[in-house]
Parts: sequence; C-alpha cells; structure tokens
Amino acid sequence: MVTSGCSSETVGTTPEATTTVLEAATTTPEAAMTENVSVDVAVEEKEKRIPKGETWSVHKFGGTCVGNSSRIKNVANIIIDDDSERKLVVVSAMSKVTDMMYDLIYKAQSRDESYVSALDAVLEKHSSTAEDLLAGKDLASFLSQLHQDISDLKAMLQAIYIAGHATESFTDFVVGHGELWSAQILSLVIKKNGIDSKWMDAREVLIVNPTRSDQVDPDYLESERRLEKWYSLNPCKVIVATGFIASTPQNIPTTLKRDGSDFSAAIMGALFRARQVTIWTDVDGVYSADPRKVGDAVILKTLSYQEAWEMSYFGANVLHPRTIVPVIRYGIPIVIRNIFNLSASGTKICHPPIIGDEDSLILKNYVKGFTTIDNLALVNVEGTGMAGVPGTASAIFSAVKDVAANVIMISQASSEHSVCFAVPEKEVQAVAEALQSVFHGALDAGRLSQVAIIPNCSVLAAVGQKMASTPGVSATLFDALAKASINVRAVAQGCSEYNITVVVKREDSIKALRAVHSRFYLSKTTIVMGIIGPGLIGSTLLDQLRDQTANLKEEFNIDLRVMGIMGSKLMLLDDDAGIDLDKWRELREEKGEVANLEKFVQHVHGNHFIPNTVLVDCTADSVIASNYDEWLRKGIHVVTPNKKANSGPLNEYLRIRALQRQSYTHYFYEATVGAGLPIISTLRGLLETGDRILQIEGIFSGTLSYIFNNFKDGRVFSEVVAEARDAGYTEPDPRDDLSGTDVARKVIILARESGLKLELSDIPVENLVPEPLRASASAQDFTQQLPKFDQELTEKLQDSENAGEVLRYVGVVDVTNQKGVVELRRYKKDHPFAQLSGSDNIIAFTTRRYRNQPLIVRGPGAGAQVTAGGIFSDILRLASYLGAPS
Ligand code: ADP
Ligand code: ASP
Ligand code: MG
Repeated sequence: MVTSGCSSETVGTTPEATTTVLEAATTTPEAAMTENVSVDVAVEEKEKRIPKGETWSVHKFGGTCVGNSSRIKNVANIIIDDDSERKLVVVSAMSKVTDMMYDLIYKAQSRDESYVSALDAVLEKHSSTAEDLLAGKDLASFLSQLHQDISDLKAMLQAIYIAGHATESFTDFVVGHGELWSAQILSLVIKKNGIDSKWMDAREVLIVNPTRSDQVDPDYLESERRLEKWYSLNPCKVIVATGFIASTPQNIPTTLKRDGSDFSAAIMGALFRARQVTIWTDVDGVYSADPRKVGDAVILKTLSYQEAWEMSYFGANVLHPRTIVPVIRYGIPIVIRNIFNLSASGTKICHPPIIGDEDSLILKNYVKGFTTIDNLALVNVEGTGMAGVPGTASAIFSAVKDVAANVIMISQASSEHSVCFAVPEKEVQAVAEALQSVFHGALDAGRLSQVAIIPNCSVLAAVGQKMASTPGVSATLFDALAKASINVRAVAQGCSEYNITVVVKREDSIKALRAVHSRFYLSKTTIVMGIIGPGLIGSTLLDQLRDQTANLKEEFNIDLRVMGIMGSKLMLLDDDAGIDLDKWRELREEKGEVANLEKFVQHVHGNHFIPNTVLVDCTADSVIASNYDEWLRKGIHVVTPNKKANSGPLNEYLRIRALQRQSYTHYFYEATVGAGLPIISTLRGLLETGDRILQIEGIFSGTLSYIFNNFKDGRVFSEVVAEARDAGYTEPDPRDDLSGTDVARKVIILARESGLKLELSDIPVENLVPEPLRASASAQDFTQQLPKFDQELTEKLQDSENAGEVLRYVGVVDVTNQKGVVELRRYKKDHPFAQLSGSDNIIAFTTRRYRNQPLIVRGPGAGAQVTAGGIFSDILRLASYLGAPS
C-alpha cells in the first residue's frame, strides 16, 4: 500500500488493487459456509442460472435497522420468518458508520491526525458487534477480514493525509466499507441459524456509469450479466448484498451517493424481477409530511410510483428519489415498513388505483403529502428584452448546466418577462456569476434588467395524483398559506400533474408545511391562544374555555389550545397540547415564571406546530395595546376587550386597521363596547351592506345606567351612587365611572368604526364629578363630600320630571355632523331609554334604513361573565374565518 508521498496516479489506482484483494478474500468465508449446508448446495448446484421472478422477495434494511447487535439479530429473524422461496437482502452500513467514514476522509485530507483514533472507533464498533453475534470460525474469519480492511484503510488514509487531498474514487472506496462489514455480519448471523446465506459485494455485480450531475446510471445489461456470473458461482436462497456501493465499467469502486441503498435495493429488485421490494426503516411508512416537522402527519397506505417519486424528490428522505425508476418498469411494488413496529402494515408504492366517481369529490384523494427542501436560493432573470426572443431560457439553463448546478424548480410568467428558478444555496454564487457573464451584453444594453438572487428560500411541494389539474386544490393550498400569513415568492405547477410547488422564506418553511398540512389533513381548525391578564375577566374566560373546549372539538371541529397565560407578575407556558384549564391556577403557582411579554409572545407564536395564533388581551393596559401593531404584522390574530388601542391616538388606530385590512390577520374587539352585546358586529353589518349611519346614541355604562335608572322619586344623587358602589356596580373609586371617560372611549370607538376621524380629545364629556372633588385625595373623601353637591342634580331631575321626562347619561356619535359627545340628556317617559332597568346598556342606531324607528340593541353590558362571553364569541368568529365549519 501507499505509505508516503503518493501522486494522484497512485492514489487513483489503489482502490482497484484493493478490490481485487477483497474479491480474493471473500472466497474464504464462503467456503467455510458451504461445509455446513452441503445438502442445499447440492440442490442449488443444478440451479446455476438465476430463477428470476416471483419467487424472489427483496428486503432492504436501513442503517438504524442494523444499528447494533440486537437489531441485527432482529433483522436476521425477519428474513428467516419471510416464507418467500428466495430472498435478497440489501443492507446499509450500521447507523452513523457512513458519516464516520466520510469524517475519516475529511480529517485525513485536512491533515488532522485524529483520523487514526476515529478509525479505531470504527474498528471497535464492528469488532464488538461481531463478537456479540458470532463465534468460532465465522467470528475469526470476519475479524481477520475486518483487521485486514482496517489496516488497508489506515494506509490509504495516511496517503490522503500526506497528499492533503482525496480523489472521488478514493473517497467512494473508503466510505463504502460500512456496507461491506454489515452485509458480512448479517449473512453470517443468518447462516448461524442454519440457513444457506451468501453475502454479495455489490461492486462485483452492480455496474453504473457516472453522470454529469453527481449521479450514477445503472448499466442493467452489464449488471445482469455479472449477476448471472456471480450466481453461477454462489447459488443460494438467501443473498445478503451490500447497499450503496457499485463499480464503474472499469471496475473502479463507486457509490450510489448518500442514502443510495434504497436505490440499490430497487435495482436488485429489477434484476431479479422480484415479487416485492420491502424497505425497512424506523418509521411506520411514508407520512403525509415529515413526521419530525409535522406532529399530526398521517401514514399513507398507498402511493403511486409517481407520487412517491415526487415526495422523495422534494425532500421526503424516507425514500431515495431514484428508487422508483428501476421497479416501475416491471410494476414491482415497494413497501415501506417499520422494523420497530411490525404491526404497522406500512406504505405500499405501486400503480395507482382508479379513483371512483364519488371519491373524486374529496380533495384528500388528490393531495397525498407535503414536503419541503430548505437552503435554496431563487434566481430571477428579468427584463423586457426576453419576451419573444427565442433561446433566452435555453441560454440561461445551459449556463446553469455548465456550473453543474441542480435546478429544483422553474417558474416563468407567461409574459416571458422573467424566468425564476431555485437552486441549492451553495450553488447560487456560481450560477449568478455564470449568468452575469453569459448575459453581460444584454444587461449592459438594458434588454435584461437584472439577474437577482433571493437567498434563504425553501420549496414547499404538495404532491398528489392529478392535483394540479383538479379545481380547488391550488385555491385551498394558497388560502391556507395566506391565512397563516405566509408570503409566496414563486410558484410552479402544472408541468407535472402531480405537484404544486411554492417558494417561501426559509424561516416560514415549517409553518407553511404545517399550515397546508393541517388544512388538507385535519378536519379541525386548530388555534393556539395566549391569554394576557387573567384577572376577573381573563379568568372567567379561561373557565368558559375549560367548560366548552371538549364540545367545540367534538361538535364544531374547533380545537382551541391555551399555550400561555400571562399575568402582571407571573406567566405560565405550555407546549403543543395546551395548558390543562382545570388546573391553570395551581400550575401557575407551581411552574409559573417571571412574566416577560416578549418571551411569552415568542413561545405562543414561535411554536410552529399549529399555524394559527391568537393573543387575547384581557387587560386595560395601554402598554400591552401598543403591541397589537407588531403582533398583527407577525400574523398573530388579536382579540380584546381592552379599549386602549381603538381609543388611543388616531394615527395608531388607523395603522392597525389598515394592517388588518391588507392581511388575513384578524383583530376583533367586540367586547370593548357593551361587553357581549353585538354592537360592533351590528354596526359592521349595517356598513358592509351599504346602509348609512346617521347617529348612534346609547347608554354605554352599566354603572351610570344603574345610577340614573334609580335616581328618581325624590332620591338624592349621592345616595344612589353610594348604593351602586355598595352593590359592587362601580369601580372601587366611583369617580372613574362618573367622570365619563370610559363612555367617551366607547363613543370614539364607535365613531371611528363609522368612519369618523376623531381623537378622544374631540369628544366633549360632561363630568359628573363636581369640580372641587376631582382632585380629592381618596375615594372615601369623595363619597363623604358628594352629598354637599347634590343640589344641582336634584334641580335637573326635578325639571325633567316636571316635563314628564327622565335623565340619562348617554354617549352620542353624530355621524352626519362628524361629532361625538358624552352628556346628560332628557328623554320622554315612553322613549326606549326611559324604560331601562338595572344596569343594562341600550344602543340605538339611526340609519338610512332605520330612520324612523332606530335599530336597538339592549341588554347587560358589563360584568365578567358577559364580557368574557363577548371575547369568547370573537375567538369563535376567528375560528370560522380560519375555516371552521359554521
Ligand atoms: P434509513 O436509514 O432507514 O434509510 P432514513 O433516515 O434515510 O432511514 O429515512 C427515514 C426517515 O425519513 C424517517 O426517520 C423520517 O424522519 C424521515 N422522513 C422525512 N420525511 C418523511 C415522510 N414524509 N414520511 C416518513 N418519513 C419521513
Ligand atoms: N450508508 C449510506 C448512507 O448513509 C447509504 C444508505 O444508508 O442508504 O448514505
Ligand atoms: Mg434512507
């Protein structure tokens, strides 16, 4: 072997030389095996030509299946239990071994001496596995071969270390050893069970030609010829073949590239015309989306060859994309199964069943799965000079081909104004340079305006039979993306009937995958919630949610999950499943952490499992409200009874509303006016159906409603206020109600909703707190001194009663004159406002349609239960906007 100062020539020839050594070595264990099974051999001696066809079944075991000795034993049992007459088993290297082998090369060529200890680890892994499983002559012959291989590898790695470089064929030779060892071990374990098994070094049989795009194409004729030869020398009923590795026609070792063992198995299946190829791995089959990214992904029972190809090409690494090609010719089915769960029947890939008429209406029958490929860049070649000029596209793609870049998808607008395509991020620089150089004339002349690169992209592919030509599929897909606030940068569809591909921002990739997946696969509308402010209203809402969620799930397919509850001091965060609302108070004590709004929002929204997030602000805090803008921008829906945002500075309000209109992100605030009463929604309904609002007039404060409903029959104002306070109808300091500010905020909300551009300061407010008491130190002082000021209101009451009228404290939006006011007004005894009792609210809409007889909404407009109910119904409105059935 090469020990020092090797030239590239000597390096290049070494793998071949070593292959020859290996070929010679393989005869020894085989000879040993035949001694034990002489009867079978005698039968098979007659069977020199391969009996191709149905009698063969092919199994492929991935790295995790043969990850340690007990797993290898398990694999042997599966093979033994398969009652097919003849079996061909393709194995990967033990898990992680291929990575370890690539790492050896990397270390050696980087002149990192630790390749020596890394090689020792490889030796140790395989020798200890063999010692666990084998004994006697089998063990001795395997270990001697292993030590021989390791010492050859050491010499080669030393040469690479000295040269500081490894050629491709050297690398392929080194990395393929994992399969050589796993196949020998497995074959010996099967043989130990009394079964005639031979191992096959696939480099002796499988001949492939390298292609320009870092792939290899099998030479079936030559492989078949060599297989016949191999079989005539090694006839048997169980063959354990190495996956991944092959040879060139010149007998130079090569590989089928990463994850290529699936491809090996499919080629073998085709060479033997096998009945079936079973690919054993660590998941129950092909899922509707990568199960590591989408927790709700479901197993697909069947896939057509084309669908399987599209899924694997677009990133479902459960199957190597080229696996389909060899088997499709002979219609050999591939079944993907889980070695760790034999009760799962797996996914069968075969020719598609015919879809019946009634099934054709179900979109799910067209959409099978969703996949993503990350780390891509988009290249956009744009310019008016491209339209109608033949050859531009071909010039673009031949430039791309020259730098051997792999084009994942292409999209061209029919205007021919731009061509846009996605390539792996690491190849984009070379592509851009090639295009700049090919088109520099056109760029200089302005026929092309730019060659732009958009980095950090991902491709999301929806795969399914005939989906691109089925009405409704694309619409549903794009709708799901829009509702999850995901911007689509490019689209390709229709070139294949089986696929719609969209390009999204890398950071949106998982969210997009989950959004579309849940839209097609989950019948439920799932919404993640964060509740801010679990005070009286917030905690009542949580109790209502607790009582109602099961029912919503069952009856209405709405799945609401509270993922965080934040108070002023503590917050409670939970994972995907949501907080147990029976216990949130205790959990907050036990597991609560210091409240931090940013972290809270990140947790609730950053959780990518569910595409829809809503933050429910149950505080009255203007600081919290100042975040709505940012939340809506991030695609977080907002529901709130907090009046601060809508009654704050006009420009901020307009900005939030504009944002809401431009996006699919929702902002609902019904409970800001009249708690659970349908006031905002009534107003919206009128406006949206083309009615014109003339005036909105109402008693908007439950407290003031109570006070004036009872301020009659010779009673004095201060006494009624004290009574209201004692009954719990007022704020702790009654001045907060009597000042009228709260009513003014409601007036401004309705005024703005009606299109008026008013500030809170534009609303004149009649303050019922006597001037000298406004600055009084305490609520108690105020209550004590209020009787001194009863006179003025007593007179007003007297006057109105004398005129057959009542006093009411009202807010008015005068839309016609673009004004608002909050004041005491007098109403005739038969006016609806005079008929009120308790603390009810009443709101009268006078509109073009309801001019003579205003539209009246009346009912309890305050209190925790009805306010929480109002918030809850906004949350359900959101669910229905997001697609829940009505
Ligand atoms: P093996 O070593 O057995 O060849 P791989 O790791 O190559 O196994 O492929 C199996 C893995 O593919 C699974 O563990 C799973 O995480 C991943 N995977 C990605 N997309 C899918 C999908 N759509 N369905 C199933 N598995 C998928
Ligand atoms: N062992 C090879 C790899 O890890 C081939 C395979 O397992 O499919 O890439
Ligand atoms: Mg694999």
